Amino acid sequence: METWDCVVVGAGASGLVGAARLAESGRRVLVLEAADRLGGCIHSWRPRADFWLELGAHTAYNSYAPLLEALDGRGRLGDLLTREKLSYRFLKSDGGVQSPMARLSFVEAALSLPFGIGRAKAGRTVADWFGRLLGRGNYRRLLAPAFAAVLSQPADGFPAAWLFRRKPRMKSAPRKFTFPGGLQGLLEAVATGARFETRLNHPVAAIRADAGGYLLDVAGDRIACRQLMLAVPVDAAANLLRDAAPDIAVRLARFPMIDIEALAVVVAADRVALPRVAGLIGGDDAFWSVVTRDPVPHPSLRGFTFHFRPGRLDVAGQRARVAEVLGVTPDDFLEARATVNRLPAPGLEHPGLVAEIDDLLAGTPLALVGNYLNGLSIGDCAERAVNETARLLAQGDSHA
Ligand SMILES: Cc1cc2nc3c(=O)[nH]c(=O)nc-3n(C[C@H](O)[C@H](O)[C@H](O)COP(=O)(O)OP(=O)(O)OC[C@H]3O[C@@H](n4cnc5c(N)ncnc54)[C@H](O)[C@@H]3O)c2cc1C
Repeated sequence: METWDCVVVGAGASGLVGAARLAESGRRVLVLEAADRLGGCIHSWRPRADFWLELGAHTAYNSYAPLLEALDGRGRLGDLLTREKLSYRFLKSDGGVQSPMARLSFVEAALSLPFGIGRAKAGRTVADWFGRLLGRGNYRRLLAPAFAAVLSQPADGFPAAWLFRRKPRMKSAPRKFTFPGGLQGLLEAVATGARFETRLNHPVAAIRADAGGYLLDVAGDRIACRQLMLAVPVDAAANLLRDAAPDIAVRLARFPMIDIEALAVVVAADRVALPRVAGLIGGDDAFWSVVTRDPVPHPSLRGFTFHFRPGRLDVAGQRARVAEVLGVTPDDFLEARATVNRLPAPGLEHPGLVAEIDDLLAGTPLALVGNYLNGLSIGDCAERAVNETARLLAQGDSHA
């Protein structure tokens, strides 16, 4: 049986940032990934040799320092691509686009700000905190649909403390960036030639606690490790920890997950009526948002990923709506690809559950990282991975 110092399960942003840090500190690290590619929610579709389009996460910021440090560890920081500064727009019912500022009442904002500034976010929902900050009308018209577009789910009940947390910036990197081949290319660069080993198509089926650490069932084999980092979606983590850590598993099972139906299309640039934008905010439409390739322009192609609310339209309906918004017909789609993304949908009880989970993790050789522990963004995931890695490393050689 193979034995590793640390096994990381899941090769999304969380798992790869964690693996890079653990390996840098001298641990022998194995990453096991169920899918046939790295990235998880970071999924860069490459339908043509010279064209990629993001099906999931699209924008990374220089406040995602641990991600950039992992890339720096591979000497690839210089390969970052700056995203051109373009804005997000609301889609109007007549098909035109509207600046978000057109929905802001400055009078209401001015009257509300003195009562909203400085209020603690902890224990408050997004609707409560931001509604007090800019006023209920501004929240309803502007912020609620804009945040729903960011989160790909209704934002009202989301914990305010988990949205837009301030993080130190790495000022030498572009403020907003992507990578050749898309953001997935960045994670591929982190894993290529790294000190840790990655195995794709290796789903972990079960985990058992063992006196010296953990035993994992993987594709008919058994792998042992002294420390374990679970970097999988929260429902998968709940399932995998049923036997090894039942107290934690029952808490993880209380996190709801949501589906987002993505439809991505590539169209000849000269066919599209829509002006160049970073993206569209759907508001009451069938989609939460549209994310474009416009910030990384291509000479003859444009790409659009529509993130639809689940169950609103069938595939034919989605294709028709995409064509309508772009001012083309479905015959103009040079390439099209549908996929389903999944995200946690936390509410106010979940930060408290995370505190309980962290108490249960303390002193154990088990680390939990992912987008359900302190926020959805890649930066939040990377920050959690840094903290959990530090906890594992602080255990010294007793566990590894
Ligand atoms: C549509 C969309 C747009 C987004 N846009 C942005 C954005 O622009 N900027 C931003 O900062 N964030 C964005 N996010 C959020 C961000 O992308 C994710 O929260 C983050 O990438 C999650 O990373 P993760 O590694 O924690 O989890 P995941 O990316 O979910 O990775 C988990 C991995 O675990 C693997 N796995 C699952 N079960 C097993 C198993 N049993 N054995 C082995 N492997 C397993 C999965 O295959 C997957 O690769 C977006 C998310 C979505 C869905």
